[in-house]
Amino acid sequence: MLSKTVFERIIDREITAEIVHEDEWCVAFRDIHPQAPVHVLVVPRRPFASLDALTEYDEGLAGHLLLVAQRIAREEGLSEGYRIVVNTGQHGGQTVDHLHIHVLGGRPMRWPPG
Ligand code: AMP
Repeated sequence: MLSKTVFERIIDREITAEIVHEDEWCVAFRDIHPQAPVHVLVVPRRPFASLDALTEYDEGLAGHLLLVAQRIAREEGLSEGYRIVVNTGQHGGQTVDHLHIHVLGGRPMRWPPG
């Protein structure tokens, strides 16, 4: 069996993280190296390697993850806006091979990203 990703270990409570939301489909916790005053990761319980691993059958899950990201932004008070990021693959800058949505806010974001 392949070894678990760090996010699976957080989901399985083998590593601690500051969890801000969890439900049947996903867990959300604060990023250990925050890039903004608010930086939360929304992670599906199923260990999809990346966004690229989703199929048409996962449409419901994909929508759910986005709505959870929106809910977290509201709960974190990001009324002036926020940024959603899904780094995908090597060129996308993905470092953990378990699909996750970054929710970043609490400061103005720049464009274009690096
Ligand atoms: P990415 O580069 O898009 O794959 O994002 C992975 C994110 O996971 C980075 O922002 C890391 O800081 C974050 N991260 C890695 N390990 C942990 C951990 N143990 N707890 C919380 N966040 C983590």
